[in-house]
Amino acid sequence: METRVEHKREFKLGETELYFLGAAGEVTGSKCVMLTHGKRILIDCGLFQGEKSSREKNWAAQDPLLENLDAVILTHAHLDHSGYLPRLVRSGYRGPVYCSGGTRDLLSVMLYDSAHIQEEDAEFANRSGYSNHKPAEPLYTVRDVQQTIPLVQSLPLYLWHTIVPGVEVELTRAGHIIGSTSLRFRIKAHGKEQFITFSGDVGHSRQKTIQGPDPLSPTEVLIVESTYGNREHTQEDPLDRMEEVLNRAKKQHGTVVIPSFAVGRAQEVLFLIRLLEDQGRIEPVPVILDSPMSSEATQIYLEHPEDHPPGLSFEKKARNFFPNRFELIRSSNESKELADRKGPMVIISASGMLQGGRVLHHLKRRLPDERNIVLFVGYQAEGTKGAFLKNHGKKEGELRIHHEPVPVSASIEAIESLSAHGDVRDLLSWVRTAGVLPKHIILNHGSPEAMESMARRIQKEFGIKAGQVG
Ligand SMILES: [Zn+2]
Repeated sequence: METRVEHKREFKLGETELYFLGAAGEVTGSKCVMLTHGKRILIDCGLFQGEKSSREKNWAAQDPLLENLDAVILTHAHLDHSGYLPRLVRSGYRGPVYCSGGTRDLLSVMLYDSAHIQEEDAEFANRSGYSNHKPAEPLYTVRDVQQTIPLVQSLPLYLWHTIVPGVEVELTRAGHIIGSTSLRFRIKAHGKEQFITFSGDVGHSRQKTIQGPDPLSPTEVLIVESTYGNREHTQEDPLDRMEEVLNRAKKQHGTVVIPSFAVGRAQEVLFLIRLLEDQGRIEPVPVILDSPMSSEATQIYLEHPEDHPPGLSFEKKARNFFPNRFELIRSSNESKELADRKGPMVIISASGMLQGGRVLHHLKRRLPDERNIVLFVGYQAEGTKGAFLKNHGKKEGELRIHHEPVPVSASIEAIESLSAHGDVRDLLSWVRTAGVLPKHIILNHGSPEAMESMARRIQKEFGIKAGQVG
């Protein structure tokens, strides 16, 4: 089979063509159209997030390749892999959306939340008169999500499912968040079979609430993410760092603000704190989850034991999951009241990269006090407020929140080893689990530097010249 790189976003693999419409030289907006057997299948339907220039792509005229799709398949529920779906439905898509059971359950929580944010943003832009579009429109609405959800069909793992005649897919666990999967396609043509696998976001086996990825099954072509393609996480145990930060904050009567993705990181952080309490390494302090979506997602986490690590089982009402002094905040009034509360305490709130949400109000209140600690626990994309605070906040001495400068006196800390993405060693070890190396490897979902660096390692260790989507 000949692989011809016609364009860095287009790959021709025998009878099959792949067109990458997102996660091309960046980590958001995952969308790949697979053309095979005269059919069009979309793998992931992600929203562009992060920098303004990236978010604006959600508004661009829809690529003609997204017309007349026969099926959509999602690797997992994170919005950068699923959040464009209601927009696709708004423009007329009515076909099936396949994914795992965990992804299906998370999707309805995440897409409704996303629609509410889109509607609120448009309303705010109209009220404040700051928008180039008059009137400002939401990218999609709750009504669009209502039309999307009935299209979603869950598929069991480890079984071949026919998507269109001649094209089957098998889902395996990717170990990233609840419901996350890799997708292995079996394409039949001229009496032969071709296997093409999409990794999706790949986790690792060090997470405490999620089982690691299944071994990769043999595949001719592998499309693999490269978020941390140029990074090796530290080998530190996240429990050690978490213990140190929480004990320091307690001694100082400070508050630890943890900006966290509502799905994935928030659940891992809650359980790590509980583990430290159970091991007697920290004294319980109030741990406040101020993110309504996170609490719904946590419930879904607990309802999918098939993705939990072996040996882990949560008691009824998850009494052995939540920190002992756990509090859940729902209304925005309760959230505002937190401003007057004194530490020691821990506040976990979204958004994880400080792109909006309640966490900004907490930071406004807590950053100017040197007793407090901001603890990053997830990926911070370049150009986001989160990346700025993490990398330059202390040096610059201030962070702009809601158009006002806020002094940065609190300590800024990060636990790098808490990521839900594998680092480059994890990704390469996962590729090796196939036993037989893929003939072709294509890297996507990474910065140009991350892809370049990972491609060099693949060349060196596997002797394969990897394609790079960008
Ligand atoms: Zn993800």
